Amino acid sequence: MKSDGKRPKRIKKLNSVNKVMWLYFCLLAFLLIFLVEVVFAIVITTTFENQARDTVERIGKEMAAEATTTPSGNLDNSFLKCRDEGVYVYLYSFSGEVLAPSVFDTDAAEENFSTMVEKLNDSESKSAVTYRTRSAISTAIRVHTARYGDCYVLATYSLDIVRDTVGTMQLYLLIVGVVILLLAFVISYSFSQRLTSGLKSLSDSAAVLARGDFSAKFTNADYKELAQLSDTLNNLRDEVKKSGDFQKEILANVTHDLKTPITMIKAYASMIQEISGDDPVKRNKHLQVIIDESDRLTGLINDVLSVSKVNSNLEELNPKVFNLTEFVYGIINKFSYLQETQGYSFMVDIDPNLYTRADEEKIGQVIYNLLGNAANYTGADKTVYISLKASLNDDRIKFSVRDTGKGIAKEEINDIWDRYYRSKKDHVRPVKGTGLGLSIVKGILTRHSFDFGVESEPGKGSTFWVDFPAVSSNIEFKEV
Ligand code: ADP
Repeated sequence: MKSDGKRPKRIKKLNSVNKVMWLYFCLLAFLLIFLVEVVFAIVITTTFENQARDTVERIGKEMAAEATTTPSGNLDNSFLKCRDEGVYVYLYSFSGEVLAPSVFDTDAAEENFSTMVEKLNDSESKSAVTYRTRSAISTAIRVHTARYGDCYVLATYSLDIVRDTVGTMQLYLLIVGVVILLLAFVISYSFSQRLTSGLKSLSDSAAVLARGDFSAKFTNADYKELAQLSDTLNNLRDEVKKSGDFQKEILANVTHDLKTPITMIKAYASMIQEISGDDPVKRNKHLQVIIDESDRLTGLINDVLSVSKVNSNLEELNPKVFNLTEFVYGIINKFSYLQETQGYSFMVDIDPNLYTRADEEKIGQVIYNLLGNAANYTGADKTVYISLKASLNDDRIKFSVRDTGKGIAKEEINDIWDRYYRSKKDHVRPVKGTGLGLSIVKGILTRHSFDFGVESEPGKGSTFWVDFPAVSSNIEFKEV
């Protein structure tokens, strides 16, 4: 069987938060009301029945005593008075004839008598029993009266009253329940509307942002989580904008910087072709310009590659333990041409034999850039101070480069690390820069998780510093 490898995508039907919340809220309200109704019916019925049982037992005993002790009296009054408490009392002869009260319902009395005799016969004592039938709770007691001899006293409480009362209460509860359900319906609807309208406004703003419009604002202060989400999205928007601006700025500046050397190279190449080709002195001078400009191009391209590699974490770090003291001296030596040809001085305060663990090549870039900047921006005394010192407890090594230049203005101090930022002012730059040096420094040190920073006082100079971890030089690896 052939198959084109494509399966039809299953489209999952998604429910709206609004609908789901509203439904669950109503369901919860309904379940609660149902539960209350059921519990209420059970509790109330049991309580009423227990009360009825206590009442019939008490009245049964009282009336039995009355029937025994009243010699020839009329029991009607006492029996009928019990009806005030809902209890019907009868005095039966053994043959089932109702002896008291004189007013009674024949059918009910006969039916009551036969059930009573049955229950008494089933009982243990055969002389007293309390029992429940479908419609009543009754107590039957065998008594001996002076007037009628052996008889039965039956006290009975109709459960219809209980049923009626519980029924009425349940009806009220049902009405309250329906009202609560309606309220739940309205409240949950408005609540879910409010919540989803917050989500919807965030999603609308996200759609605006997705179209590249950075004026999109995420606002929601109604709920903590949504407010947090709004903050995160606002940050995301700012970061995306920043990075977009940064890329544009780099592109604009780099293209601008590429243009100058290329124009120069072209101009000097034409000059050699047309004018200086036969004059070795002039030709060499012009060729030197071409070489210098090509070096500038290479430097620029390398910096752009470095900054993008470091910033996008493309390159792996290759950390190892090395002698930082000697390494720093080695880089200072690279600047010796400035001492010899342009009168620069590099003053050092460097502790011997300090070891650290880092990516040596990348740290080289960091130190080279910082020294180059210090030389570029130092003051008229052309002096750069370099220090490398172990901390008191020997766990850190502080490297710092100080110059005596004009320093960095407060409002610029954060920008110099991130942006393709170059001082526009004309000044002598013995070391060629591309405006990307500090961005590379930041990228490398951040990836190493080393602390670094700059302190600067306008007019007095700047100090750039890096904290390296100190390690012991004689780390030995042992087999375990
Ligand atoms: P650049 O190639 O222009 O030196 P960097 O990224 O190394 O580029 O530095 C960015 C900017 O930070 C510089 O253009 C300069 O304005 C400022 N800066 C860097 N180092 C110093 C310093 N030691 N003193 C004063 N300003 C400095």
